[in-house]
Amino acid sequence: MTDKGTKITLNSDGTLNVPNDPVIPFIGGDGIGPDIWAATVRVLDAAIERTYGGTKKISWIEIFAGEKGFEHTGSWLPNETLEAIKEHVVAIKGPLTTPVGKGFRSVNVAIRQQLDLYACVRPVCYIKGVPSPMKHPEKVNMVVFRENTEDVYAGIEWAKGTAEVERLLTFLKSDMGIAIRKDSGIGIKPISETGSKRLVASAIRYALEQGLQSVTLMHKGNIMKFTEGAFKQWGYEVAEEMFGDQTITEAALWDQYNGECPEGKVIIKDRIADMMFQQVLLRPDEYQIIATPNLNGDYISDALAAQVGGLGMAPGANIGDKCAVFEATHGTAPKYAGQDKVNPGSLILSGAMMLDYLGWHEGAKQIREAIRKTIADRVVTYDLARQIKGAKKVKCSEFASAIIERL
Ligand code: NAP
Repeated sequence: MTDKGTKITLNSDGTLNVPNDPVIPFIGGDGIGPDIWAATVRVLDAAIERTYGGTKKISWIEIFAGEKGFEHTGSWLPNETLEAIKEHVVAIKGPLTTPVGKGFRSVNVAIRQQLDLYACVRPVCYIKGVPSPMKHPEKVNMVVFRENTEDVYAGIEWAKGTAEVERLLTFLKSDMGIAIRKDSGIGIKPISETGSKRLVASAIRYALEQGLQSVTLMHKGNIMKFTEGAFKQWGYEVAEEMFGDQTITEAALWDQYNGECPEGKVIIKDRIADMMFQQVLLRPDEYQIIATPNLNGDYISDALAAQVGGLGMAPGANIGDKCAVFEATHGTAPKYAGQDKVNPGSLILSGAMMLDYLGWHEGAKQIREAIRKTIADRVVTYDLARQIKGAKKVKCSEFASAIIERL
């Protein structure tokens, strides 16, 4: 192990080569980012030290984006930052402010698109003791695979009254025979076969690796037939093409297997997006993995986070074929910036996902276990304290210390 660490590399089959002293870049983030990052890095370092007795250690290097990126380089998303993530294969980040009217629609979306981090992976599972609006939150145990590069998030839109909209309106009327109100803004929703199939394939691969029973394609294909409907169609196709021996459709489950899933197979089913919101409330234990286009994924992951206790505990990862960036689901919560107040659980759990991604499963397990114990002892930040009777309300940094004590 060196002081400066060793870079993670990619093998030709896409798997990682992880040294015992990997160099991992981090972006502290804006708003509450520095508070939750400071808490997270202490927990990650302590968990690795205690689990592996000093034989493994991460060498962190800071890279910049968002407000700090702008201060240091004049750019909200410096090229060096993107290059550093590519070079080091794995990175972790705090939330970033979306600069209003400064060229970027969202720095976070730009990172995902420019690094082609096509799968946004958001596990949602209940931690005992966390206040939840559900009667049986323990039945919620799902992972959302949200497509990260297409859909309306591709950011192709034009404002009302612009020359671009004028041209589009003329083209649509004269060439397509479609009349749209003159005072409209217009957005484009691209959903490709390539983007859909690789996302669904990664969801199915994950289900097989984890021994999970089903992948549900969540879509609004009854209305948007050639985008959302096509997503569903391509999802079924890729299941058949790449995993034909390991998957069965829900229709086949009933037609051929009398509703009993054969051992080792993953059921591929689909649900219409609006209906999915009631399914995850009323029958959550019937869903393990949800694979869905970008906008549906945005909505359902926040809704699911609320079912198990809110955004303060919602981790996530953006994963591509060449690199991965781990981050919390929530944003910068600017009203709490610098107050050492918010829940760092979301980023700490994202860090645990990162350790799993490195193959350091025992370290990840220790972190989750220590968080469970901390919450069971009712030592929590404000967001959970306001709903738990007799809770000991602690600051963001104190919550991290309490987790470390329980490692
Ligand atoms: P937000 O930052 O996610 O915060 C919304 C609310 O969620 C907070 O006011 C707070 O609720 C709760 N919350 C969020 N994080 C929490 C935590 N760690 N602990 C406890 N509670 C937490 O959403 P926003 O205010 O709509 O967005 C603010 C900025 O973040 C925007 O510039 C947005 O573009 C950006 N953003 C960035 C990302 C990202 O970096 N990936 C993602 C989403 C949004 P209470 O007020 O009820 O306490």
